[in-house]
Amino acid sequence: MKVVVGGGSGFVGRTLTQLLSSRGHEVTVISRQPGPGRITWDELSSKGLPPCDGAVNLAGENVLNPLRWWNEEYKKDLFSSRIDTTRTLVEAIAAAEKPPQSWVLVTGVGYYKPSQTAEYTEMSEGGDFDMLSRLVTEWETAGRLPGDKATDTRQVVVRAGAVLGKDGGAIQQMIWPFWLGLGGTLGSGCQPFPWIHVADVAGIITHALESGTGVVSGVLNGVAPADDTNATFTRALGSALRRPTLFPVPAFVVNTLLGRERAVILLQGQRVIPKRTLESGYVFKYPDLQSALKNIVS
Ligand code: NDP
Repeated sequence: MKVVVGGGSGFVGRTLTQLLSSRGHEVTVISRQPGPGRITWDELSSKGLPPCDGAVNLAGENVLNPLRWWNEEYKKDLFSSRIDTTRTLVEAIAAAEKPPQSWVLVTGVGYYKPSQTAEYTEMSEGGDFDMLSRLVTEWETAGRLPGDKATDTRQVVVRAGAVLGKDGGAIQQMIWPFWLGLGGTLGSGCQPFPWIHVADVAGIITHALESGTGVVSGVLNGVAPADDTNATFTRALGSALRRPTLFPVPAFVVNTLLGRERAVILLQGQRVIPKRTLESGYVFKYPDLQSALKNIVS
């Protein structure tokens, strides 16, 4: 199968590319930078979609970029890097003479309203209560193929939780404070922590691309079938690294460092169930934190 992956140069994209290649598929990355095995977004706009059987979009400015201060310019980049790339890819799919059989967009669980008690499946409502949830709604709306094209191409949206892996994402930013014995819970620590191992995000995308017509479509929650809080995650990471986790970080520090609107990601959380993902037949490689963290810190 030939697969085109927007943002395939990133953290999830590198694992996805490895997995797809190991299964005999051929990947072309869409990037802002030209290079071997890549096309640029401008080339996609001007020359159209290269012949392919599947398309994926993973492009987006990092929401927890520690080097960027939370301001209007950064928020604008978060929106445009996701929505403009998604729209460009959708337009190219809609205009393709031979459209791909499947189109997979990865968004986020920020769609669901943070709560310590509610449980969210793919059928739950959300997407209209704060900036991040509205971002997901606009992003998924941009990802919808026009009605007359929707029958040619199977559409899948993977709403991912915090992606855990060795080479990027949340763990990369936490590993040093934890190694130095400075790790601790964030805020109360009681907030749910929906997470997924990077191998499973890549696995779910591959499952969606490879599944036959009608088997996998619509929204899939990209979270492990676990029920962790920030406190259980903190203890598990400390224990995997054999480091103490004695220093809780008060909520006001996280709010000040990250900005209140994005601190929500760490200080509040959602209990998300991968109901349709499991029903679609996907088997998680890392269903619990212990096995995921053992793999990551090994
Ligand atoms: P990365 O931060 O690794 O970014 C992926 C790619 O996006 C980059 O390699 C880059 O490609 C492209 N990109 C970055 N900034 C911009 C920009 N300003 N404009 C256009 N393209 C840009 O993402 P991940 O692999 O971690 O995540 C993949 C997707 O999953 C993202 O959309 C993310 O929002 C979503 N997600 C990720 C989570 C996580 O914990 N990592 C959690 C939930 C959702 P290039 O430089 O080649 O153009």
